[in-house]
Amino acid sequence: MSNEQLDLLRKQLDELNVDLLNLINKRGDLVKEVAKFKPNQGADKKYDPVREHQMLEKLKNQNEGPFQDATIIHLFKEIFKAGLELQEKDYHKEMLVSRKRKNEDTIIDIKGEKIGDGQPHFVCGPCAVESYEQVKKVAEQIKKHGLNMIRGGAFKPRTSPYDFQGLGFEGLEILRRIGDEFDLAVVSEIVRPQDMEQAAEYLDMIQIGARNMQNFELLKAAGEVDKPIILKRGMSATVSDFINAAEYIHSKGNGNIILCERGIRTYETSTRNTLDITAVPILKQETHLPVMVDVTHSTGRRDLLIPAAKAAIAIGADAIMAEVHPDPAVALSDQQQQMNFEQFDAFMEAVRK
Ligand code: PEP
Ligand code: MN
Repeated sequence: MSNEQLDLLRKQLDELNVDLLNLINKRGDLVKEVAKFKPNQGADKKYDPVREHQMLEKLKNQNEGPFQDATIIHLFKEIFKAGLELQEKDYHKEMLVSRKRKNEDTIIDIKGEKIGDGQPHFVCGPCAVESYEQVKKVAEQIKKHGLNMIRGGAFKPRTSPYDFQGLGFEGLEILRRIGDEFDLAVVSEIVRPQDMEQAAEYLDMIQIGARNMQNFELLKAAGEVDKPIILKRGMSATVSDFINAAEYIHSKGNGNIILCERGIRTYETSTRNTLDITAVPILKQETHLPVMVDVTHSTGRRDLLIPAAKAAIAIGADAIMAEVHPDPAVALSDQQQQMNFEQFDAFMEAVRK
């Protein structure tokens, strides 16, 4: 074969490459058009195995070679996959919580605390509301440190049904009383959709706990109240699951959501959970929502609270959650990990440096 002939063949190949490129992109445009006919569907719903099978069968029947059917199927599956990824990207752009949809940071204003303003904020308090006196003692310490928010669980999702389950609405009443007496914003976890509305009368901010991150009815109910929501990451939830859970809340009209990384379950046993610290910048890149780190439930260790909080602030967390109890040894829940007041003083001093 002469050089001229070779050049000619190569030229034809180059031209075919461009034709293929244009055809693949044209197909991409069509796939995006098709996606518009499936509105409000999550990314995964766009994959239609029956339709894909039909398309592959047609291609196989029309394949005249030289490529074998298996090679053609492999190549087209890649093209189909790329098309699905295009649809997924579009879906993520559509999400209400997405940074692509809204570029400015969401800032949540609670009693003058502007969570998401670039300064670290603190939500501290006991694991559980046990009595008025107990919460009052903690509130005094919180005020002493110039903080404006207090947490305390009234509905406790415990591993064992025989453990202290919380004081329920009586606990919320105590929190409200403390909030009014000390001018503090109060935060507590709600576990049942039907309690959302009533709970909103007591609370300044509502928490959805890790165990309920994919309790979709609860998420929808949280989307219908006019209170900021702290949404905790489920212990086996991926970042994508977490963002979709926030989307559930936002889709019902409530965009005031704080995402709380609280550690995930891994094979590591030296901490109670594994603090996924890089989830913080990932969540901040992917969404416009403020991100909190719960140093207590992630580490489960008092000796790690200060370094974990420092790491969280350094990596861009907007807020820190930590548990404080007047006498952790007799606490009705999480005795091992709550700080006493002396430890709380040291914690606040160290993390504010
Ligand atoms: C809590 O904050 O009281 C709590 C139970 O945390 P989590 O849902 O993260 O386990
Ligand atoms: Mn706790």
